[in-house]
Amino acid sequence: MKKMSCPQCEIHRFFVKNEKNEQLLVNVTDNYEVVPVKPEDSLDGFDLSMLYCLGCSWTGSPQSLRGGNKKRY
Ligand SMILES: [Zn+2]
Repeated sequence: MKKMSCPQCEIHRFFVKNEKNEQLLVNVTDNYEVVPVKPEDSLDGFDLSMLYCLGCSWTGSPQSLRGGNKKRY
């Protein structure tokens, strides 16, 4: 399974938030599927349409990640 990386800093870890503003660490597969970094975590209640990069200030939808290290100009 390939993981998508941040278009700015190219790390593979993001977090998502829920209504209580709690954060959950996730990866995004190359099918744009959001999966928890810890398999025992549940994504219930978390907004998977908005990702927050752990390494920089990038935020966006899983679809906006596209092929990871390909830069868009
Ligand atoms: Zn980043």
